[in-house]
Amino acid sequence: MTLYEKSVAGRSAFSFGFEEDLAGVEERVPEYAQAPMKQLPQVSELDLVRHFTSLASKNYGVDTGFYPLGSCTMKYNPKINERMAADPRLTGRHPLDSAADNQGILQMEFELKESLQEITGMDDFTLQPACGAHGELTGMLIIHAYMQDHDPKRTKVLIPDSAHGTNPASATMAGFQTVTIPSNERGSVDMDALDKLMDDTVAGIMLTNPNTVGLFEENSTQIAELVHARGGLLYYDGANLNALMGLVRPGDLGFDVVHLNLHKTFSTPHGGGGPGAAPVGVKKFLADYLPTPVVVYRDGAYVLDSDRPHTIGRMSAFYGNTAVLARAYVYIQMMGRDGLLAASHAAVINANYVKALLSPYYPPAYDRPVMHETVLSAKGYDKYGVTLLDIAKRLMDYGFHPPTIYFPHFPPYAEEVMMVEPTESESKETMDAFCDALIKISREAKENPELLLSAPHNTVVTRVNETYAARHLVTSHRDKQGT
Ligand SMILES: *Cc1c(COP(=O)(O)O)cnc(C)c1O
Repeated sequence: MTLYEKSVAGRSAFSFGFEEDLAGVEERVPEYAQAPMKQLPQVSELDLVRHFTSLASKNYGVDTGFYPLGSCTMKYNPKINERMAADPRLTGRHPLDSAADNQGILQMEFELKESLQEITGMDDFTLQPACGAHGELTGMLIIHAYMQDHDPKRTKVLIPDSAHGTNPASATMAGFQTVTIPSNERGSVDMDALDKLMDDTVAGIMLTNPNTVGLFEENSTQIAELVHARGGLLYYDGANLNALMGLVRPGDLGFDVVHLNLHKTFSTPHGGGGPGAAPVGVKKFLADYLPTPVVVYRDGAYVLDSDRPHTIGRMSAFYGNTAVLARAYVYIQMMGRDGLLAASHAAVINANYVKALLSPYYPPAYDRPVMHETVLSAKGYDKYGVTLLDIAKRLMDYGFHPPTIYFPHFPPYAEEVMMVEPTESESKETMDAFCDALIKISREAKENPELLLSAPHNTVVTRVNETYAARHLVTSHRDKQGT
């Protein structure tokens, strides 16, 4: 039941304390706001509390259970980060205060930049971009501006078929044409294809590493050498760096630009669209192209530097998504070098553990160790009349959030694949329980497929019609009432 349906005229969750004020309130509301105000639900405080508490209890999040959504890194985010991001010394600052008054925020941003430089092997960073795709756009605009200055005939960007789907979109938005490089039989970039495509019309390559099937790009250094030798630049999609922290640095592999998703790897809870931050790191020769202002330390103070002659311009207002940056800052400070390395080890071990347990029932496409996630296939189950969707729905009955399904989408992954990312924060017991459930479901598919076809049974919302919502859009309670 929506709050609107619970509304009873005259009920209110607050009181001004004197009726004459309440009586006059409508006249004092500007005309444009009166109509929407009259449509607000009228409920008591208790109605309100029960409504939202019951909604919250129906929700599923990483704080309630295992959330192995591949490519999304739904790891647990320590609550201390929330406390720090909500600290009034941070939230009470105004972005229009002078840099002299905001030294604390600027110091935090500067030190975060330094940490990210060390983690990635890059020379400078912008903290402005608000999500991964926004970081990609920033990085590709930098490469585009650089090529306009140095070699404007380079108008194409090469993107492996195993890249994240946002990559071609970002390159296109930055003004490039994209060309797809196929993967070889090991799930890596096909070097012969790259050799043929990498000519003097190509500005560079965008590489997701680990790629979308969780595999480390084993030809990384050869790719960097080849692309550089032919005058191109290299972009590194480092959204899922939680497999690599302390192990491999994009800068050392030869990459010129990298973005990191702080809301995945560096501990900001996300999902449903935000909030996020995706700092972009560059090598020194591109530092003048960064969005301005850039936080620097000069003459004993933290200052906002706008003196970047080739800047692509601003990518966000003020200092970026400060609360997300604060969480990442606290996370990195608390983990330290050894902690980040341990997190990466755990992420890799966990993904390989799940892969080993589930392979006999849901085989992986490649017999190679994975990094932070594993892609498994449910192909043979169609002979029992069961699809991967039914398997994912049935997992909900066992209390687990399903993994990403029907993605990625390139050969040999074209169909019935699920992408499982346990992340570094899960225990062996949790992963065992999850794998047990998927193994039981594998048996159920053979013995009692009906159980899967009608699943889920134990959830607040049971099997939904997959296309009804798209065909009958309800975007507000008024649509629902048909007015
Ligand atoms: C999640 C992800 C992105 C996009 O990040 P958003 O914050 O959702 O825009 C890009 N690349 C990779 C590899 C990702 O996993």
